[in-house]
Amino acid sequence: MITWDRAKFDQRCGRCGQPIAQGAPRFVVTIARVEKVRGECCEGPAPELPPFVPYDPVPISPTPRRPRLPVAKVGLDWRQRQAGDDDDGGTA
Ligand SMILES: [Zn+2]
Repeated sequence: MITWDRAKFDQRCGRCGQPIAQGAPRFVVTIARVEKVRGECCEGPAPELPPFVPYDPVPISPTPRRPRLPVAKVGLDWRQRQAGDDDDGGTA
């Protein structure tokens, strides 16, 4: 893909090494997700582009943590209850 856009950060022309300031027009050739960047120094004047909007991240408020709920208490005689024993100590 061949397009003109504005540089999101300071970078250099890939052909002559001239600096491309943040917000300056740049010529981008994308081949297989690899960008080749050229400045106006090598590609000539840029066409009319929308104004540069600097990236301004909006902080995301953290989700409030819910308090940990206590685990249900298990009786001390859980083994005997599993075996079918009575609470009184006798066998069923
Ligand atoms: Zn250049």
